Amino acid sequence: LTSIALRGTYLDDEDVAGLLRLSLPGIDEVVGLLAISKLASSGYDEVVVDTAPTGHTLRMLAAPALLERVAALLDGLQAHHREVVQALRGRYVADEADGLIAELERDGASLAATLRDRTKTRLSWVTIAEPMALEETSDAVQSLERGGLHVSTLIVNRITLPPPQPCNWCEARRRFEARALGPLQRRFPNVDILALPEFLEEPRGIAALEKVGRSFGPRKAGATATRVARRTFAQIGDAVSVRPASALPGTGRWLLFGGKGGVGKSTCAAAFAIDLAASEPARRVLLLSSDPAHSLGDVFGVPLDNRPRPIDGAPGNLHVREIDASLGLEQFRQQYLDSVDAVFARISRGSGVAADGPTFRQLVDLAPPGIDEVIAIADVAEALTGPDRRYDTIVSDTAPTGHALRLLQTPHVLREWTQALMAILLKYREIVASGPLAAVLVRLSKRLRTLDALLRDPRQTAFVIVTRPAALPREESLRLHSTLTDLGIATRAVIVNAIGAGTCSRCRKQIRGQTAEIGRLGRALRGTSYAIIGTPAVVPPPHGVEALSAWASGWRRLD
Ligand SMILES: [Zn+2]
Repeated sequence: LTSIALRGTYLDDEDVAGLLRLSLPGIDEVVGLLAISKLASSGYDEVVVDTAPTGHTLRMLAAPALLERVAALLDGLQAHHREVVQALRGRYVADEADGLIAELERDGASLAATLRDRTKTRLSWVTIAEPMALEETSDAVQSLERGGLHVSTLIVNRITLPPPQPCNWCEARRRFEARALGPLQRRFPNVDILALPEFLEEPRGIAALEKVGRSFGPRKAGATATRVARRTFAQIGDAVSVRPASALPGTGRWLLFGGKGGVGKSTCAAAFAIDLAASEPARRVLLLSSDPAHSLGDVFGVPLDNRPRPIDGAPGNLHVREIDASLGLEQFRQQYLDSVDAVFARISRGSGVAADGPTFRQLVDLAPPGIDEVIAIADVAEALTGPDRRYDTIVSDTAPTGHALRLLQTPHVLREWTQALMAILLKYREIVASGPLAAVLVRLSKRLRTLDALLRDPRQTAFVIVTRPAALPREESLRLHSTLTDLGIATRAVIVNAIGAGTCSRCRKQIRGQTAEIGRLGRALRGTSYAIIGTPAVVPPPHGVEALSAWASGWRRLD
């Protein structure tokens, strides 16, 4: 790759190495997919892939297109070399570099075709019987369909079975699930829907997983929608009640709520933001989502978009916004392309430098992944720290773990990327000095530096880990905690969401298991100063301002 880039431009070794080192993270997912597709043709009859949460999966499935863009960029660079050789020697013979480009193109095209071939690839989407999760599922399935990928199976996990004894919780839960599942079949007429019961303990180990395999069954039709009773079960017992705003004292400028998908981050972030705004009327609070799954709109039950807006019934000093990351990236891309064009339009066609124009255009497409969200978030950082800051505190509902971490790691990778671009531009000093291109890059680099500094300042920024009282979320939360520590991002609190309810023997056994998990979490975090907060399970999950406020009164300190 380096030799292709060196042949194609006036860049030197160091520039090219810098760019490739930074841009290659952009194709890690492609390489992952390629490795998978090669496994399928190397001795296995079937390869089962467990993918990352929603946003990340959608991105991964778009990866073949990225591979084709990489190949196109390299081909553009190589074309320059072919012309030179042709001119000097009178003929051109394809070499190793041409072979590599052809291979990348071929792999990208065949991967894209394999993913869309229903005889080779089967996509199963796993969800739970809750309106928010089903909403997200619907969005994802549609988005995949638009890309030509067909979801053939929908697995609805954690269905509540009839309780062994009468139990208000289990029965309310069953009515709620039935109502959520009702429209599913109508919505996805061409998708097989399978149901899987909730297991008392998370299935771990071969024997338990075999039992899960035997439990798959088609969802029984005809479950009637009944009125769902709202019930709160204060099983967290005698723990001290705490309002969300006072559970996280000394709130800085930026609080990020994150955790594994499906733990209820959005609900916790929304309840906290409402309570913070209500308890401090002078504090201007912005609740913000960078999760492409639109979960905040679902929590409030109103459509939200890129414009901050107040919510009916919530304190007036609270604004809510769902970042449209693609919009920010498109603006940046356009600025970049316009300025590249402006620069190269002024270079005479005879000059060798002119040939680098198309390459510079393509460089923006090789930006590391996550640049869209980072650009959007950098705007936010500016809104917090700039001279005309409009908010005192921003509460962020981040995308599920893997995605959020990647986002937090990227500001500095992206800054290096813009700096590598600028270092290259210095070679074209005369052009750059008079052109707008450098200004665009300098501005982005500055914003990324601000973002990076803000994230790592514990007086201003803190993370709230949201988890559930079960083994797998606990383990993932502890990994998240240590990654955040490595990144230099402070953790303020751990929220154990949706702690048990119900009175039947099954529910009581479940609550004993949850209590044990909370104990393990507490021991693992011993020695830290984080607040451990428990929130009650309610059915249906809190939806809308009033329900969120009522639910927040059930928060408890568990540490
Ligand atoms: Zn029960």
